[in-house]
Amino acid sequence: MAVYDYDLFVIGGGSGGVRAARVAAALGKRVGIAEEYRYGGTCVIRGCVPKKLYVYASQFPEHFADAAGYGWTVPQASFDWQTLVANKDREISRLEAIYRKNVQGAGGETFQSRAMLVDPHGVHLLGEDRTVTADQILIATGGRPTPHPALPGHEHCIFSNEAFDLKELPDAIMIEGGGYIAVEFANIFHGLGVDTTLVYRGKEILSRFDMDLRRMLHETMEKKGIRILCHAVSEWVRKRPDGRLDAVVTGGKVLTVDQVMLAIGRLPNTENMGLEGVGIEMTRTGAIHVDQYSRTSIDNIWAIGDVTNRVQLTPVAIHEAMCFVETAFKGNPTAPDHETIATAVFSQPEIGTVGLSEDEAIKRFSEVEIYRATFRPMRNTLSGRDEKMLMKLVVDGASKKVLGAHILGPDAGEMAQLLGIPLKAGLTKDDFDRTMAVHPTAAEELVTMYKPTYRVSDGERA
Ligand SMILES: Cc1cc2nc3c(=O)[nH]c(=O)nc-3n(C[C@H](O)[C@H](O)[C@H](O)COP(=O)(O)OP(=O)(O)OC[C@H]3O[C@@H](n4cnc5c(N)ncnc54)[C@H](O)[C@@H]3O)c2cc1C
Repeated sequence: MAVYDYDLFVIGGGSGGVRAARVAAALGKRVGIAEEYRYGGTCVIRGCVPKKLYVYASQFPEHFADAAGYGWTVPQASFDWQTLVANKDREISRLEAIYRKNVQGAGGETFQSRAMLVDPHGVHLLGEDRTVTADQILIATGGRPTPHPALPGHEHCIFSNEAFDLKELPDAIMIEGGGYIAVEFANIFHGLGVDTTLVYRGKEILSRFDMDLRRMLHETMEKKGIRILCHAVSEWVRKRPDGRLDAVVTGGKVLTVDQVMLAIGRLPNTENMGLEGVGIEMTRTGAIHVDQYSRTSIDNIWAIGDVTNRVQLTPVAIHEAMCFVETAFKGNPTAPDHETIATAVFSQPEIGTVGLSEDEAIKRFSEVEIYRATFRPMRNTLSGRDEKMLMKLVVDGASKKVLGAHILGPDAGEMAQLLGIPLKAGLTKDDFDRTMAVHPTAAEELVTMYKPTYRVSDGERA
């Protein structure tokens, strides 16, 4: 039997790679892992974590304004971008060290190096100029923002990676894209006082989310002062003599801004890694093609997380890592479950959602009941904030199973996590109705919408 340096070698020290390395090492496997940039990957270094910290930072002006109705006088507040960036850096460095230490603590060996495949069992570590061998190899190299080389002036644009570390907070920004990253950054920059325009080629922001959430978030963001241009794309970006940028969008409208941020999608990191040479199949977009157990076209090589372009979320990469370890090292073939994933958009107001949107449910079920409530959350009463909350349940009229739950409003992400449990368990509207409300909360609305707002039978609204 061939003897390898490692039982498992992991390429990529992000959410998925670190989890797989740590758990496999804790099982007593000889594990090596290579990371070319910073341990923790996208989520910790330039994704979920810094993003959420910036969301918190950007919410303070509204908190200060809301305080007056509760009797507080808040002196003129000021904001220092450099302090926020420095404090964020400190926190992600702390987390980065924990990620690396956790692998080492479990007995894994960590490398600071780019890695590429040289054969089905060989990994070349460019930083060390040596090749190691492994019985099993896991590719967890994540993704990166999609560039836009066809856009004249694209060299003046930034992506989410750079947005976290701008030297100065811009006075005005244009963000192109309609996905959750574009929407979240639009709210962050607006909250920090930046004149913000969101430009999106589609008809409504946040495609694939429930249409009620999309429309109501759009309206609320515009009310706050965020300009949203749908059915529009940037046509070129030009540097002005004063150093600012002119961005021309569909229809010839010129936006003069300090930064243009492109958030038009993400691409898998599969280039220049020797994958083709080894015979690993990829999809048209360069994502690694895997079977239901995350195995690539080469028997001992596996891939998980964003690089496989299944569902690009941190908990999904982690779940796929755990399933991989079960399958490859515990003799328990386990396919990741990508059904009914609860998720949030940290817009302002926030979105929390799980299960089918109304439109998806109508396509799949002949009788659909919609329970829908819009109301002013109690916290907005004394503050005078004119912002409504939306709660919506999508129910199969025949079985009464709750198919989808959608929330727009404060703490929606926290609620979505808890709603993920009854929806995953397949509970019915009757189970929701039997559940005692927690009063006074906004969430109590979820168990007190007794009558359907409307029904949809065979696609027709009744
Ligand atoms: C702005 C932003 C906000 C986000 N917010 C959320 C959120 O709120 N919630 C959520 O669930 N998800 C969020 N995500 C998505 C989440 O970050 C990813 O789904 C998750 O990080 C994927 O984990 P991964 O292990 O597949 O890849 P990654 O975390 O991207 O890790 C891959 C690692 O591999 C390294 N690497 C690449 N190539 C090589 C190589 N050849 N050799 C060595 N190392 C290599 C990279 O440097 C990277 O560190 C966000 C993403 C972005 C960009």
